[in-house]
Amino acid sequence: MKFETKALHVGEEPNISDGGSGDVVSPIHLTSTFARDKIDQPTKGYEYSRSANPTRDALEKRLAALENGKYGIAFASGLAATATVILSLLRAGDHMIAFDDLYGGTRRLFSQLFKENFNIDVSYVDARKVENIADAVKGKTRLIWLETPTNPLLKMCDIRSIASIAWDKKIFLAVDNTFMTPYFQLPLDLGADLVVHSTTKYLNGHSDSVGGAVITSDDHIHDKIRFNQNAAGAILSPFDSYMVLRGTKTLSLRMERHQQNAMAIAKYLEGHDKVEQVFYPGLESHPQHQIAKKQMSGFGGMVSFELKADLNQARGFVEGLRLFTLAESLGCVESLVELPALMTHSSIPPEERKKTGIKDSLIRISVGIENIDDLLDDLEQALNAI
Ligand SMILES: *Cc1c(COP(=O)(O)O)cnc(C)c1O
Repeated sequence: MKFETKALHVGEEPNISDGGSGDVVSPIHLTSTFARDKIDQPTKGYEYSRSANPTRDALEKRLAALENGKYGIAFASGLAATATVILSLLRAGDHMIAFDDLYGGTRRLFSQLFKENFNIDVSYVDARKVENIADAVKGKTRLIWLETPTNPLLKMCDIRSIASIAWDKKIFLAVDNTFMTPYFQLPLDLGADLVVHSTTKYLNGHSDSVGGAVITSDDHIHDKIRFNQNAAGAILSPFDSYMVLRGTKTLSLRMERHQQNAMAIAKYLEGHDKVEQVFYPGLESHPQHQIAKKQMSGFGGMVSFELKADLNQARGFVEGLRLFTLAESLGCVESLVELPALMTHSSIPPEERKKTGIKDSLIRISVGIENIDDLLDDLEQALNAI
């Protein structure tokens, strides 16, 4: 099956033949527990909804299929998924390597929880240069953690080259694929051991559910994460599982429109004299446009740009937009705007922000699927007001 077909059918095959009611849409199984006939007789595969639930199963099957993986595991949030991966693959004293331009919450989790409380050593490196990854490997390195493109600067790294280092040194490679989604990028096919998602973003796509997922084809990794998901309990609820299942059905259509609008906005901003610099993987001016074309089948819906402005003017600009909602988060049908220095990335110390290139006048937009003319008009009026 091709992507669009899998997104509609995998995990939701109507069951008519063996006693099923033939629901075309997977029911929301709001049960916490499952009955059995006899104590020593196995149940029909389910015992208790923390361990497994049919609605969550349906979503997990679909996510696995979309990422070309064998197993999907759905979590209560993207960070719950990330935390469970670290708890499953690392021990106190181990070392990991991470891209230095990560989602702020991921970095907070690594530095302030795993490093401070559990002595997990983290090296943040500029993964745009593959040799920086190779140089950071130590005896106790167990995991490489990548986002590509990164948040908010849309930096990219070469998954295939880094996967070959990881393979050589027997280190796990995890890729957070939230920004591109499997519609545009398939990290497992490029050699990653596991893919992590915040389903809160594009996969659900409608700003009405928080969730996360891990996808892998490795039996051993799956068994550990599955065990720890049940042991630590950060599962996705049946209702949210249904929401994300529903979201995935239109993922391909939404991603096409997100990208089309984002490209138009990136080009518009690039030609505007109040804009210093635009970051969008689809622009030929992006220093890593070639990598984008090599490992992605599209460029996504996230655009960042620097205004020729100070922090106060940048604040005035984002507050002056009418259609772009001023809010954290991304990847939903409506356009959102935010100021990383004061919002999503405020937990990163200012000198660290400066080092990774997140300036005070950096604006991040998550381009929605509205009519492009309305979006451009809104940007125009807010730019004029600076
Ligand atoms: C939002 C986000 C996360 C965290 O996911 P939550 O669902 O908010 O816990 C992780 N990585 C990226 C790239 C994100 O955008």
